[in-house]
Amino acid sequence: MELLYQGRMSDINFIDAGWVIDGSGCSVSENVRFGIKNGCIVSINDSGFKDSAINGVVDLSSCTILPPLVDSHVHLCMSGTDDPEVRQRQLDMDFVEAEKIISKHIAQHLSYGILAVRDGGDRHAHALRYLNECHKIIKTPIKIKVAGKAWHRTGRYGGLIGRPPHNGCSLAEAINNSSDGIDHIKVVNSGLNSLKEFGKETDPQFGTKELSDAVNLADKLRLKVMVHANGKRPVAAAVASGCHSIEHGFFMGDENLELMTEKNIIWVPTACTMKAYSEHMKKGSIEHEVSLMNLEHQLKQIAKARKHGVTIALGTDAGSTGVHHGSAVIEELSLLISAGYSLPEAIKCATLNGTILLGIDEFGLIEKGKPVTFIAINGEPSDLPASLSSIKAICINGILKYLE
Ligand SMILES: [Zn+2]
Repeated sequence: MELLYQGRMSDINFIDAGWVIDGSGCSVSENVRFGIKNGCIVSINDSGFKDSAINGVVDLSSCTILPPLVDSHVHLCMSGTDDPEVRQRQLDMDFVEAEKIISKHIAQHLSYGILAVRDGGDRHAHALRYLNECHKIIKTPIKIKVAGKAWHRTGRYGGLIGRPPHNGCSLAEAINNSSDGIDHIKVVNSGLNSLKEFGKETDPQFGTKELSDAVNLADKLRLKVMVHANGKRPVAAAVASGCHSIEHGFFMGDENLELMTEKNIIWVPTACTMKAYSEHMKKGSIEHEVSLMNLEHQLKQIAKARKHGVTIALGTDAGSTGVHHGSAVIEELSLLISAGYSLPEAIKCATLNGTILLGIDEFGLIEKGKPVTFIAINGEPSDLPASLSSIKAICINGILKYLE
């Protein structure tokens, strides 16, 4: 996909947008004229497009405008393929191959209007190396936040994306010894969801004390902690430690949801992983049935989270089976909507809430005084989220580019 240079904002005085979803969760505005000066929004007028003959107007009146999207949970090294041989090769690949795959995935994100991703770890820390060695050179506008290798308990799930603390080190000591260059810490605190036994809980990998020590250390290092956790006890230990986000959180239960509201811990439910499993498992198999039940249960939890006021950031777990970089964001938005979120509320999870979690302040909301940074999608809001596959333009810090 090519980004075509269109023009600097110094040539543009106004942008006319058919519809605007500003990222705040509030309702859609229609026929909005933005006044632009020095690359910033100086006025927002929703009383229609008057004086269409004036100079310097960019016509996006057939488009819906949103802040750039954020996928708060991806694995850049892995693709969504369900071919076991390819998946195994991706787990073992060297950096030369990883570089090509990561670049491809980044281009996929860009083509769906995703301008920030948070990586949940890979076993060789290729995404971290990519960020350090390649990202600045290729100058893609996407912000990449990386965990390097995740942490898991010896003998427990997590070897696909990380490693255990070694040599009698506590989790906090291990983190302290190897946090160079990373943007956040990823801890795995449960197993995967069973696809054979509905709601089967695994033991927490780390206790509350060990996790709390790790979170306190992370605070000193100014790093946030994302915790993979499914089931009541693994999530409860993570929530009690004051971690910053719960990843997946299947079967966490009402009590944890309430505590997350109280402690302002963000939830990244990755519901589309179960939808993808259900589509890849043979119809009539136990795995097919259980993945559908898991999905159903997660959607009920998401509805409760909305009621309790838990902050959800959209994350897809792109790179897991059947979850494809870029397009998965359409799946996850659809699932949030089917769980009861309005379109603007679901967009908020994929924009503002993601930027808060990733610590990005350059975008997240479209408002007066902010830089002109948005994505423009062909068509009306009712075409979303499917129309994310049809991005017309991306504007970053005042530079507008049309996508072919
Ligand atoms: Zn993950």
